[in-house]
Amino acid sequence: MKNKTIIIGGGIIGLSVGWQLAKKGMHVVILEQHKAGKSSSYAAAGMLAPQAEMGFEDIELFYLCRKSLEMYPAFVDELYNDSGIKVEVEKTGCILPGFDRDDAERLRRLYDFREKIGLSVVWLTGSEAREIEPFLSPRCTGAIWIDDDAQINNRKLLEALKIAFVKCGGKLYEEHKVENINIQNGKVCGVHVHGSNFNIDMQSDNLIIAGGAWSKQIGGIPEHLLPPVRPVKGQIINLRLNDSCRITKVVRAPDVYLLPKSDGRLILGASVEEMGYDENPTAGEIFRLLERGWEAVPSIYDLPIESIDVGLRPGSRDHMPIIGDSDIEGLFFATGHYRNGILLTPITAYELSDWIITGERSKLLNGFEISRFYKATV
Ligand SMILES: Cc1cc2nc3c(=O)[nH]c(=O)nc-3n(C[C@H](O)[C@H](O)[C@H](O)COP(=O)(O)OP(=O)(O)OC[C@H]3O[C@@H](n4cnc5c(N)ncnc54)[C@H](O)[C@@H]3O)c2cc1C
Repeated sequence: MKNKTIIIGGGIIGLSVGWQLAKKGMHVVILEQHKAGKSSSYAAAGMLAPQAEMGFEDIELFYLCRKSLEMYPAFVDELYNDSGIKVEVEKTGCILPGFDRDDAERLRRLYDFREKIGLSVVWLTGSEAREIEPFLSPRCTGAIWIDDDAQINNRKLLEALKIAFVKCGGKLYEEHKVENINIQNGKVCGVHVHGSNFNIDMQSDNLIIAGGAWSKQIGGIPEHLLPPVRPVKGQIINLRLNDSCRITKVVRAPDVYLLPKSDGRLILGASVEEMGYDENPTAGEIFRLLERGWEAVPSIYDLPIESIDVGLRPGSRDHMPIIGDSDIEGLFFATGHYRNGILLTPITAYELSDWIITGERSKLLNGFEISRFYKATV
């Protein structure tokens, strides 16, 4: 009989790992408490931006993200074969503009650091920046240009993953909340599931915790393995581009990014808030995003507001993802992807599914396992 794996959570991480496992011949069930692909993964902007995202302290995460970006073209090709939906990796390029002396100093440090580790970055004067993106404010005094970062339509990607997963034989159950995981004698044996009018036990050989910002709330996870993941609220505004503003490049200004999407939206994002599980949009953050966005690209002033989305990023204590096995046989984690879950989808899906199927640890995921938290208290 084939091994059976239950994945808790139908976000981009659960769906992509599930698709790869089902494709490799495993019997896979995804249990999603609400609707699959409608949580953080839906609210996300879809930037695939290892370079622009990187801070000075994040070098290991940067290499993981860059590797995942390299995997993306093959990943979307394979997904097209299995789902019939073509999702493009779009090389939009990215400008990091500065508007005063503080910004210039900060950008210069970011630039020097990237240059030192051999990345391809270009320093632009204000007028050179405006040649590349004419809608940028004339107040721009200088900028960094990053050619390599990309973006994707994450909503289309989620649709494709759902189709591919089911076509490859996976079973997706929505409105199925996992209340508890069951462990006996140091080994996974299944889950207890709650629905609107049922309570059932399901058996499995493997379990993958892919519950995003809710991962720590799943019952039955041993104390030392409780993933230190919290919700980090993000609000974005979807504007509709028109002739008054046709920005084509990603603009990452201080405290706000403006991201033109191929479906005609201009995403203004994103807040980073510690507000627990609150998912309400708020006047203050929306005001701040609009103000900072308008300072960077003044012509957004006349664009219609289409909608506002709110998502909860799964932020781990060190802001690195938690991917890999644990000291309970059959218990795996794929959570804590924080600001990079869309970008890290291919590497998580390929490497974790291979690990589970072959039993061989992934070298690329070395150091990202939950064991790095064993000694600390949650
Ligand atoms: C505003 C915003 C912008 C972002 N922009 C980007 C970006 O540009 N690029 C990028 O790479 N990343 C971005 N991110 C981050 C990215 O969205 C996340 O890292 C990623 O979506 C995490 O995916 P996930 O599958 O782990 O979580 P989710 O998409 O949140 O999915 C987890 C799922 O698990 C389910 N679940 C939880 N507990 C249970 C349970 N007990 N039983 C059953 N189901 C359960 C939930 O209902 C949910 O559907 C952004 C996030 C936000 C909020």
